[in-house]
Amino acid sequence: MRVGIYPGSFDPITLGHLDIIKRSSKMVDKLIIAVLNNSAKKAMFSADERVALIRETVKDIPNVSVEQFEGLTVDFARKVGANVMFRGLRAVTDFEYEIQIAQTNHAIAPDIDTLFLTTSVKYSFLSSSIVKEISMYKESVEQFVPECVAEALIKKFK
Ligand code: ADP
Repeated sequence: MRVGIYPGSFDPITLGHLDIIKRSSKMVDKLIIAVLNNSAKKAMFSADERVALIRETVKDIPNVSVEQFEGLTVDFARKVGANVMFRGLRAVTDFEYEIQIAQTNHAIAPDIDTLFLTTSVKYSFLSSSIVKEISMYKESVEQFVPECVAEALIKKFK
C-alpha cells in the first residue's frame, strides 16, 4: 500500500492546499494530512482547530485522513509508514526554501521521497497569511478558503 503525507502548518487551510490534497490523494492509496504543531511558531488557529477545519474540508475524500504531529516530519512519515511527502510549489520564491527542506529530509531519510506539485495557476498567489490579513480587515475570503474556514475567520475577528 502506498501511503503519502502532506505536511504543513495549514493555519488555516486554503483552496490552494485543497487543490494539492485532491491531486496528491489520487497518487497514493492513503494520504495523511500532517498538521505541524510547532509551539515555537505562533499560529492563529490551535493545532486542534486546524485539524478540525481540515477534517470538515476533506470529509468527502475517502482515502484522506488528518493527524497532527510535533518534531521532525520524516519521523512522522516513518511512524505512519509513508514513503512519499507531497509539497506544493507556488512560485520560484517557494523553491529555494522547499529544496532546502527536501534535500535535508532526503539526507536523513533516503527512503522517503518528496514530490512537488505545482499549484493551479488560479491559486498561485494564495497563502494562509494573505487570507488572515484580508480577514483582519473584515473583507470576505469566501473565494479563497473552504466555507467552514471563512466562518471560523469571521468568528476569530469578531
Ligand atoms: P508551511 O508548511 O511552510 O508552514 P503551509 O502550511 O502554508 O506552509 O503549506 C503547506 C504546503 O502547501 C507547502 O508545500 C506550501 O508550499 C503549499 N501551499 C501553500 N499554499 C499553496 C497554494 N496556494 N497552492 C499550492 N500549494 C500551496
